[in-house]
Amino acid sequence: MDFLEHAVVAIPTKTDFRGINIREAFLFRGSQGWSEFSPFIEYDDAESSTWLKAAIEGAYKPWPELKRTKVSINATLPRIASEKVASFMSNYSGCTTVKMKVNNFEDDADRLEALLDFMPEAKVRLDVNGGWSLAQARAYIHDYFMRFGNVFEYIEQPCMELSDIAELKQEIPMKIALDESIRKFLDSDFKDISEIADVAIMKWAPSGGIESARKIIAEIGLPAVISSALDTGIGISHGLALAASLPELDFACGLGTTALFVGDITDPSPRPIDGEIEVKAIAPKPELLEKYAASAERKLWWENRVKRIWENHLSDEVKGWVR
Ligand SMILES: [Mg+2]
Repeated sequence: MDFLEHAVVAIPTKTDFRGINIREAFLFRGSQGWSEFSPFIEYDDAESSTWLKAAIEGAYKPWPELKRTKVSINATLPRIASEKVASFMSNYSGCTTVKMKVNNFEDDADRLEALLDFMPEAKVRLDVNGGWSLAQARAYIHDYFMRFGNVFEYIEQPCMELSDIAELKQEIPMKIALDESIRKFLDSDFKDISEIADVAIMKWAPSGGIESARKIIAEIGLPAVISSALDTGIGISHGLALAASLPELDFACGLGTTALFVGDITDPSPRPIDGEIEVKAIAPKPELLEKYAASAERKLWWENRVKRIWENHLSDEVKGWVR
């Protein structure tokens, strides 16, 4: 394992996002350009190996043919105080679709109210990350509809169990998107998923890269929304290429997430303008790699992680891409 160049960065986030306040990433350059390996710290080597496969593909294999030069983007609204919602939305110029993570109805309805006061035409996506039981899903979805009416584009992974999702699908007027159900079970049979859901959330790194994500999307047969895993601008550029390579792209993609960081390794960071981000390869700025450099200890931790996964979990085929 010998990349042409590499760096480890630690970028502070503006708000606590799924418990993360510092986003660390291993960035490296291969024959085709820069790529990113940044599975969350708690992921084990086996799960992270899918991310490394994506990262190596990104650095050493050319992007497929792109069908579009820009990708339509949704805003991602973190858990912030209601009075800060309007100003946070200025990160997402021209975006009319807004995704928010929700715990329940009581904690999150006011934030949605603040958003709709500011953007009455917003199309709203609720992301539950599989956190509700079937009974909770029924109750909360009822509450959301009663208070806000038909502002929802879809609800993402309301429950973890597919049998619960299948029941909900019969009962609720909201479209259902699946995220964790797909991402955590990449080897499963996706044939039946299109009967119980309307949208498939796909992420570049956790699905093993562009080629693999395109294959999964074709197998599932649902419209896809390409989303980020809180990547730096480099991971985002590969997510944008994946989105741009799809024959159909009906929904805005969740790739505006560098707005959640205090800074990025490129300047300007890939952010929406008029609701879209241009698809292009990104190289980091040396001064920004230095500004956000991880400590020597964390750098070594990431280098060891890459080395271990390379030795124990990567196929010869993927290793053969590095040249
Ligand atoms: Mg999600």
